[in-house]
Parts: sequence; structure tokens; C-alpha cells
Amino acid sequence: MDPFTYTKPADTRAALAAGARGGRYIAGGTTLVDLMRETVERPGTLVDISGLPLREVRATSDALRIGALALMSDVASHPRVRGAYPVIAQALELSASAQLRNMATIGGNILQRTRCTYFRDVNAACNKRQRGSGCSALEGYNRAHAILGTSNSCVATHPSDLAVALAALDAVVHLRGPDGERDLALTRFLLQPGDTPDREHDLRPGELITAVEIPSHPTPLRSGYLKVRDRQSYEFALTSAAVVLHITGGVIRDARVAAGGVGTVPWRLSAVERRLTGQRPSDRLWAQAAEVAADGARPLRHNAFKAELLQRTVERQLRVVGGTR
Ligand code: SF4
Repeated sequence: MDPFTYTKPADTRAALAAGARGGRYIAGGTTLVDLMRETVERPGTLVDISGLPLREVRATSDALRIGALALMSDVASHPRVRGAYPVIAQALELSASAQLRNMATIGGNILQRTRCTYFRDVNAACNKRQRGSGCSALEGYNRAHAILGTSNSCVATHPSDLAVALAALDAVVHLRGPDGERDLALTRFLLQPGDTPDREHDLRPGELITAVEIPSHPTPLRSGYLKVRDRQSYEFALTSAAVVLHITGGVIRDARVAAGGVGTVPWRLSAVERRLTGQRPSDRLWAQAAEVAADGARPLRHNAFKAELLQRTVERQLRVVGGTR
């Protein structure tokens, strides 16, 4: 680990000032400290924001607002989250380990960096770590990599389960920086690699995530999260599906489905959603909708299995959330 200086500002204003001077924000540190130990990340100054008042989880008639510094474990056990948004609670509980969930924050979870092993090996070529150096995964071992949203520069998956659930819920990210506040849809905030895989999100210099907000729906939504992985705990997704359905009068009025483990960002499955909307739930419908889950996929040498696995993951979770299981 390279030497660094450490500061813990007393309030948000002081934190933003330190961030504007080039400091790197840290809260739970469950990603950043690992990467610093491996010298993948080498910040000169750490700005500890863990004491800022951004931990509140608050439900209003318009939205559920989750402070960026709320802990994963606290959000997963929050009564309002469990009651109205089980997809969030399930995604969190299927993430990492209990110890990590007690340290890691919601903002940090969204910003966590990829698990591509070449990214974490400073001796391997990696465009995300150093733009223009090449991508070792393209011709290397790429079983865990993405099949959607990839580019010739990078094929790494986004690792967050929570972000997949939030994408399905049309979540909005609240940001505060030296130039004021702004909001962005999560699906616009996280960026596909294109030619600039080192640029993973739309945070401007010195900006902080302050909260994530999930707009309320006039009637209760059914939702749930399924994660498929090589082992049943402390493992990242091979595929996952977040399903959110609004069913009234026996008809699906609104369907939102997002996938994880397959995309360079949390991936909304709009073709699946179109097949579901306006239809009556049935096992046949779930199968027909899941058929198009992997539309547009570009498999690599070792991960072609993910396309069919994604279809099966989506079909199974549609059956569970749709209530025909
Ligand atoms: Fe780096 Fe992305 Fe290639 Fe992995 S897939 S080696 S993160 S450029």
C-alpha cells in the first residue's frame, strides 16, 4: 500500500471542500482498502465521510429515500424495505457476507468496482485500470465476464446486486458537489465501458452520492430477486434477475425486469418487459417473455452458457413473483 494522508471532516461542507481538492471519499472501505492494498488504487488523500449525517432511511408518500451512508444490513432489515420492496432486501441479503454488510454502505455498494481478476492484477493489461493498455480478459479466461453492454475495450461485469434491484425500481441517485445538487436515474448514472472503461459513473470531481430514492407506486408492487452463483454464499452472480410486477384484475399492468452478472452495468430487459405488459400471468407467458432475455448478447469464449442461464433465471423469478409457482 502506498502512503496516503487521512482526514475526517466534521460536516458535509468540509467534506466537499476536501473532495474538491482531490481527496478520495471513503466510508465502509470494503472495496477501496482492498484495492489500495493491491496498489490498484493509489489515492493521495482519503476523506473519511463515515460521520456525515447521510444514514437515514425515510419513507414518504412520494418515495423511499435511502441515505448513501446507510449500512447494507440496516437497509435489508428495515421494515418498510422488507414490506414494500422485498427485491431490495433480498438483493442485499444475497450480497457479500454478514460482516461486510455490517460495514458497507449503500453509496459504496453502487460504486464498487468490478471483480475482473485482471483488473485486480497490476501486472495484467487492463483498460479500466489504465486506459489504452489493453484488455487481458478478451483473450483470457472470461467465464465470469459480461455478455451485454460490452465493448472492444472492456467486458467486465458490474458487481452490485443492489444496483440491479434499484435499476428495476427506476431508482434515482442524488448527488451533491462543489457546484450544487443534482439527480440522475441510476441507469444513466452508471456508464457502459465504450472506449472509456475507466469512467464507470457520472460522478463529477468532488461530488458525493447523498441518497438513493425509489419513487412510490400508487398500488403495491410485487417484487423479488434471484441470484445464481457457483456457491450459495459470499459469491458474485453468474446471472441474477430483479423482477417488479404490478398486477391488478388478473392483468400485468407494469413489468420491470433487470439482470445482473451479465452486463457491464445493471441491465434492464426491456424486450422481456414488453412481452409481459398487458398480459395475464401464466407459466407459458413467463417462458415466452424469458426467451428474449438475452437479446443482443455477445458471448465470449468461456461464457456462452450465460445466455441460456439468464433466460432460465428470468423465467424462474417471473414465476415466483408472478405467483404461478
Ligand atoms: Fe480490465 Fe475490463 Fe478487460 Fe477486465 S474486462 S481486464 S476490467 S478492461
